[in-house]
Amino acid sequence: MDITSGSSRPALKMAAAAQSDEALSSEFLSFSARDTAERWLEAADLQQEVYRHLAQYVPRILCVGGGAASSREEHREEQREDLAVQLLLLAPLEWLLLGEEPSSGLALLQENNQPSPLCGHVFRVGEPTYSCRECAADPTCVLCMQCFLGSVHKEHRYRMTTSGGGGFCDCGDAEAWKRGSYCRKHTPADTHSQEDPVSLLPADLVSRCVCLFSVLLQYSVEMLTWDQEETLPAGLEPPEWADTYLCMLFNDEVHTYEQVIYTLQKAVSCSQKEAVSFATTVDRDGRKSVRFGDFQFCDQAKSVIVRNTSRQSKPLRVQVMHSSVVAHQCFALRALSWMGNIIQYSDGLRRTLCQVCLQKLPEGQFSSLVDKLMLNDSKMWKGARNVYHQLLMNSLLMDLKYKKVFAIQFAKNYRRLQTDFMEDDHERVVSVTSLSVQLFTVPTMARMLMVEQDLMTTIIRTFVDHLRHRDLQGRFQFDRYTAQQAFKFGRVQSLIGDLKYVLISRPSEWSDQLRLKFLEGLDAFLELLKCMQGMDPVVRQVGQHIEMEPEWEAAFTLQMKLSPIISLLEEWCCSDEQVLVAAYRKCVLLLSATHSSLADGEQPLSLSVCGHAVETFRYQVSQEKVSIHLPLCRLLAGLHVLLSRTQVAVRLPEQLPLGDLSPPLLIELPLRCLVLCAQVHAGMWRRNGFSLINQIYYYHNVKCRVEMFDKDIIMLQVGASMMDPDHFLMIVLSRFELFHIFSSADCRKRLREASKDLVQQNNTLIEEMLHLIIMVVGERYVSGVGQVEPFDEVRREIIHQLSIRPMAHSELVKALPENGNKETGLERVIDSVASFKKPGVTGRGLYELQSDWQKHFNLYFHHYSRADQSKAEEAQRKLRRQRGEDTALPPPLPPPLSPLFSSLVNLLQSDLMLALQGAVLLWAGEPSGGVWTEAMLQRVLHLVGLALLEEQQQLETRGEEDVSFRYSCKITRPGEAPSPSGSVLALLESLQNAPHLEVHKDMITWILKMVANVKTMRERSSCSSTVTVRPGQGLEETLRDRDQLERKRKAEMARLRREKIMAQMSEMQKHFINENKDLFLEASGSTAESSPPRSDPPCVSQVCLGPRRSSAAQSRQLVTCILCQEEQEVRGQGRAMVLAAFVQRSTVLSKNRRRILPEPMHYDPLFMHPDLSLGTHTASCGHIMHANCWQRYFEAVQVKEQRRQQRLRGHTSYDVEHGEFLCPLCECLSNTVIPLLPHTNSPDHSVDHPSLETWLETTNQQIAALCSAHRKQSGVEGTEPEVPEGFRVDFTPQNPFSSSISEMITTFSMSIYKVSLKLNPNEQDPRVPVLSWATCAYTIQSIERLLMDEDKPLFGSLPCRQDDCLSSLTRFSSSCWTAAPPTTAHTHFIRLFTALLPDSRVEDSLCVLDIDMFHLLVYSVMSYSSIHCLDQSEHRTVDSAHLHLLHLVTVAHLVQILLTSITEEVCMDQDSEGSEEEELTCQLYNTLRKHLGSVLPELSSGCQLSRCVRLGVLPFLRAAALFFHYLNSTAPPTELLVTGPGQWEALCSFLSLPFNLLQLQQHTLLETLIHRWCVHPGVRQALQGGGGMVRFPRESNRLIGLPEDYSTLINQASSFLCPRSGGDKSRAPTLCLVCGCMLCSQSYCCQTEVGGEDVGACTAHTFTCGAGLGLFLRVRESQVLFVAGKTKGCFYPPPYLDDYGETDQGLKRGNPLHLCAERYRKIERLWRQHGVAEVIGHAQEANQTLVAIDWQHL
Ligand SMILES: [Zn+2]
Ligand SMILES: [Zn+2]
Ligand SMILES: [Zn+2]
Ligand SMILES: [Zn+2]
Ligand SMILES: [Zn+2]
Ligand SMILES: [Zn+2]
Ligand SMILES: [Zn+2]
Repeated sequence: MDITSGSSRPALKMAAAAQSDEALSSEFLSFSARDTAERWLEAADLQQEVYRHLAQYVPRILCVGGGAASSREEHREEQREDLAVQLLLLAPLEWLLLGEEPSSGLALLQENNQPSPLCGHVFRVGEPTYSCRECAADPTCVLCMQCFLGSVHKEHRYRMTTSGGGGFCDCGDAEAWKRGSYCRKHTPADTHSQEDPVSLLPADLVSRCVCLFSVLLQYSVEMLTWDQEETLPAGLEPPEWADTYLCMLFNDEVHTYEQVIYTLQKAVSCSQKEAVSFATTVDRDGRKSVRFGDFQFCDQAKSVIVRNTSRQSKPLRVQVMHSSVVAHQCFALRALSWMGNIIQYSDGLRRTLCQVCLQKLPEGQFSSLVDKLMLNDSKMWKGARNVYHQLLMNSLLMDLKYKKVFAIQFAKNYRRLQTDFMEDDHERVVSVTSLSVQLFTVPTMARMLMVEQDLMTTIIRTFVDHLRHRDLQGRFQFDRYTAQQAFKFGRVQSLIGDLKYVLISRPSEWSDQLRLKFLEGLDAFLELLKCMQGMDPVVRQVGQHIEMEPEWEAAFTLQMKLSPIISLLEEWCCSDEQVLVAAYRKCVLLLSATHSSLADGEQPLSLSVCGHAVETFRYQVSQEKVSIHLPLCRLLAGLHVLLSRTQVAVRLPEQLPLGDLSPPLLIELPLRCLVLCAQVHAGMWRRNGFSLINQIYYYHNVKCRVEMFDKDIIMLQVGASMMDPDHFLMIVLSRFELFHIFSSADCRKRLREASKDLVQQNNTLIEEMLHLIIMVVGERYVSGVGQVEPFDEVRREIIHQLSIRPMAHSELVKALPENGNKETGLERVIDSVASFKKPGVTGRGLYELQSDWQKHFNLYFHHYSRADQSKAEEAQRKLRRQRGEDTALPPPLPPPLSPLFSSLVNLLQSDLMLALQGAVLLWAGEPSGGVWTEAMLQRVLHLVGLALLEEQQQLETRGEEDVSFRYSCKITRPGEAPSPSGSVLALLESLQNAPHLEVHKDMITWILKMVANVKTMRERSSCSSTVTVRPGQGLEETLRDRDQLERKRKAEMARLRREKIMAQMSEMQKHFINENKDLFLEASGSTAESSPPRSDPPCVSQVCLGPRRSSAAQSRQLVTCILCQEEQEVRGQGRAMVLAAFVQRSTVLSKNRRRILPEPMHYDPLFMHPDLSLGTHTASCGHIMHANCWQRYFEAVQVKEQRRQQRLRGHTSYDVEHGEFLCPLCECLSNTVIPLLPHTNSPDHSVDHPSLETWLETTNQQIAALCSAHRKQSGVEGTEPEVPEGFRVDFTPQNPFSSSISEMITTFSMSIYKVSLKLNPNEQDPRVPVLSWATCAYTIQSIERLLMDEDKPLFGSLPCRQDDCLSSLTRFSSSCWTAAPPTTAHTHFIRLFTALLPDSRVEDSLCVLDIDMFHLLVYSVMSYSSIHCLDQSEHRTVDSAHLHLLHLVTVAHLVQILLTSITEEVCMDQDSEGSEEEELTCQLYNTLRKHLGSVLPELSSGCQLSRCVRLGVLPFLRAAALFFHYLNSTAPPTELLVTGPGQWEALCSFLSLPFNLLQLQQHTLLETLIHRWCVHPGVRQALQGGGGMVRFPRESNRLIGLPEDYSTLINQASSFLCPRSGGDKSRAPTLCLVCGCMLCSQSYCCQTEVGGEDVGACTAHTFTCGAGLGLFLRVRESQVLFVAGKTKGCFYPPPYLDDYGETDQGLKRGNPLHLCAERYRKIERLWRQHGVAEVIGHAQEANQTLVAIDWQHL
């Protein structure tokens, strides 16, 4: 380590190291492990001998260097250490243990072993784990992948997660699974004996084993718990104490990586890289020596580190330790791992080790060695803990006998271990306390610990003891917590987790002992609840807004954590009547004790109305303290429901203290809480801030409501069922502070004159109160309250969620509370009520409510929020209207109440209720009153409906005499004071036709019908109970008929209306078709025609190049500027028009990702290699602007961006500095503009077409003339060549473009230059035009591939924007040379021409196999223009030249294809019936063989080969067709507008080529050319080298194949090691979808420097794999990641879906995931279309938080 820290020390140290190296290696040779072992065996005191050996060797072998300069050296040193440890230290131990050669001894052991059926595989971080949702005893029971695949659970509903590391596979543990405990591999053999495995081993082996394990374990424990820095335990002192120390840095959770790295660089003056490596190791292992040397040297480093880190917080922990101490500690870890390995071979050895571990120690504070380790756990460093925890898992936890003994020790130490953990600053996974999950979740073990060790009570008491702050009443007070205490509060929550493990499986049988201990535990728990009862009280703030938001989260966190515990306790109670009754008594007792203080301070108050009177006390929620936390009341409510469910109350009433209960006191606190909610809704608590709003939110939220809101409603139901209903309602009225409004007319009169706010407040309160009453009488879907099953409860929940809208599976799961097993019960009911709709390529699968369940919809469902309620109401009314039904939403039929709650219904017919109903109905009669609301009326109508349903139901099930519920009779009586009016019924009848109540008309009608119906039922049953008439006929019949008539009429009207609309629409359609007749005829004709195959070659009239070229489709181009809306003609001399465009580098077509990117300064782009490893792609959104309009816009964007950066310093989705902007119309990401240029001239058919010879001759002459002119310029004299007629070398053609167009040509050229080469713009660079041609060629090629792969026709299927982009890009490239000096283009043409027609005299010519022919074609056609314009002769024949160039390049390509497509298969072809084409192919091939000889194999027939040639040349021809089409604006032939047969012929004629391309090569001139191509040495080399040759057609690149099952990927990733940090697991394994490379992302270890910046592995990879653009799959997150450059990226939904059609980003839900091929194809298409950058842009625009992510660190 210190080698790098300068000074003179290194030499000295290295010398010392070398010396010891030498000494050791000589001892290697003379050392015999066997002899040593024998000596030990004979010794009297084994420990002494072994210690002596260790004292001698350990310090010399381990930690002698302390670290090395480079990772390679460090690696070598590690290897050396490993070897020495094995030979000198471990080998003698193995000999001693086995008494023979270790490898054969171990093999024998394994052979004789009868392994226990436990799998016990310990999970790596990130490894997939599986849990069966049907069979697992609890969610902590998991299987490893191997076991899972071999188990029955594969076919069950399972959950998949990734392990956080540390747990182990439960396969083989019978208690962990309800069934299927064994996988195929771990099924115990029938012969498996229950014998003690130790007895199967030879006795002498066992005794040696006991001795050895004792010595080693004692040694290890002693060393790991050793806290001296400079001494060693007795017997281990080294022969001499050298002055060699290590400066040891320890891990903590306080300091960040950056702080540590920075400090280390200062303290031990190491490089940043080394510091990162130190920090990584410290983080992983818990400690790392950062310096090696004498004491002073190390101490100095220590003080620097301490000084540097002590400023803000406590300093980093550093120790200067003697190297011998560290060496022994290192060996102690090795010894533990060694024992862990050895016991894998034999269960007998394992048991022996367990025995030694737990053996009673003679004296001292620790009972056993394991005890000592456990109790020192928090003092050890992370690495040591991991090693010994691993050993415990391999030994004690795998042995069923000793697991129990260990569990008892663990439980005994529980309190102490937890207290240590509170002070420990390590995460829980590395604390021994985390083993609780392995012990407590075993049901028999948990029960044993509960009974024998008081575990339940211990856990609860420990928990309570750690929560210190209490108020005067002894309640928790979290707002006084400091940060330190808050941290502890976080830690202490793990105790609740332990409690949950203990309770998770309830006992099937109870012993008295268990009852006793459970109830003791319950006592402790009740004490805990008592501390929570009434905590965090709030007082309404009036006048001023609250100053500081009070702390509320801690209390709710506690509540949320305890909720599952309470549910479990209830389940336990429920399983034993004795326990239930006792628990109920305890709860009542404690609650009465707390209540006794309640009424004391408050004054009594008596209320009277409607002839009823009740005593209560003066208390107003709006003025006094009120608390949301009432866990005691709620627990009692829960137990009461259980009493009702189990009917204990009915059978054993004498055992229950029901008499002790005062119903008014029971309801008091829950009622206050509910009133608080109502008042908050009414806006009375606005000044209490967000803290209260949040509390109210969570009170109703699915995470808390089961143990809060739901239980409060139940408590009110309990109270109401035990009270006089009028009394109950009076207390409710009083608590709502509404008593006077209903009891005195004056009050209401006064209210009328009150302020609007107050009126509204009161209205809301009344609404809320009515809603509460509806819930109290109507909510019966809790088993015990109503006569329902838990199944019904879940189903009702789902029905109501789906009544809002169709929902995805995950949404439904979120809306339901989970039980202890993380199950909601959703799956059991979902299919019975809903139908599933599959997702498309986007979106997710949805469940839709089946229509016959819609009648169960209850508008006042208690779990609806206000928003939910109004959404559901709207949706349901809409549905009913669509079905032509009325829009009344009456209450559904409620289930019958349980006997204990049966008197609840009387609330509905109580006097006060009728008075309330009468009052509201009376108010509703006055339309302009304003002191009532429709919501109020709606609720009253609901209550009336509920009462009528109740009465109807009772009449249906019992006889009239038994029915005491007489609501229908009561509502006919006139109302009483204070609102003496007509009866409720009369009021309803009068409201039925009130115009201002139109919305409620249907509901009122429904009620009146019900009344009539109920009355008939009563009359019928009273007059003749013997007559068996189905109740509810007769009057109802006629009513129903009338109703049906009405509905029919409405439906008829609706049908007529629809028909009218349809008629109008079809009329419009006809009109449209008439107008566009031709179009429709064409469309229908073409589809019919294209199918039959044609035998004749089509007669194609369109030709896109050459002398027969067809003229341009249209000559004038008119375009409109999207910015100023002005229309403009595209002309060479006109105002420049531009197209927004995006240029990017691309490797999408690359056939060689390993090719190293060229050095930009010296890169020669003139010849593209056929592997197309790097190209530049141009795309456009197709939006056109004036050049100067665009410039103004871009300047404005720049200014805005500068201002914004000053303000916010953030990024935008586009990078203005790199010229990026968003298209002003469509916001598409762009970084340049393409100038629009006019069409080329129409062809001149009058000129003669020169033959190939003539043209070549002329061109050669022209080239010669140019060359000599160039030479002359540079001062070299030469012979004057013959200049062809009219060719003027010195001619300067007139620039065909206006200055503004020229400027735009330069702008675009420079953008391409910048992007392609990553260089600053340089207009003088001769490569500028080449790069422009290159992007044109590359873009055309990539679009040709896309069309081919998607099986689309070559022409006519591209979207407009791509069409526009390609045509402007092609025309631009044909003219871009005009912006460069003319000689530049000349030189390029000359070089291209010579490559095509190689001159055997020129030496450095290019091999024909190293050129992409399409690029060559484009470049030569483009550059030819510059030569051609010098020709001032009469017969200018640019078209002929293009055709000749095409012919030449095509032949070259054919040769290329023939040379590369030869395979065995092609040669062995036997079919010899040759067509002309085949013959010619053979002929050409044989010509090639003539030149190349034996390199090419002999060919028997040309059939296969000619097919290969056609296939190989097709992409080239298609690309060429696109190119000339856009260059010359020729209309495409109709044959190419569709796919199908005849394409080849059409293509050839369009390109003016013969159908048999081979005819081209028959030209004698070409014979010599072919010869010249073949003799290039490169050709022979490539053919002999084989391998890397590009073959044609180049196969399209695809994204890598992904496995169908996502867990395969997780498993792959979990065994992926970080390539940099020597065998570490990667934290964020990420898969490159382009090349399949796995990367270690988002981690310091794998950062690389790119362009002077440290970037993460993904970003670094994009620069080698995707030219800066990457598509990845983050395996642990199940997330697709797009990255572009260093600053941009976004996440994209993964192509994996669960069975419910949903993705699981973050793998939170754990449903099995499967590949969705369509979605993956969509991603692939996005990549191939070069659309990824655009997707990132749009995502970042839509979501600003994406912009802030440091993408480069991923
Ligand atoms: Zn397993
Ligand atoms: Zn297994
Ligand atoms: Zn299962
Ligand atoms: Zn404009
Ligand atoms: Zn646009
Ligand atoms: Zn890659
Ligand atoms: Zn890494």
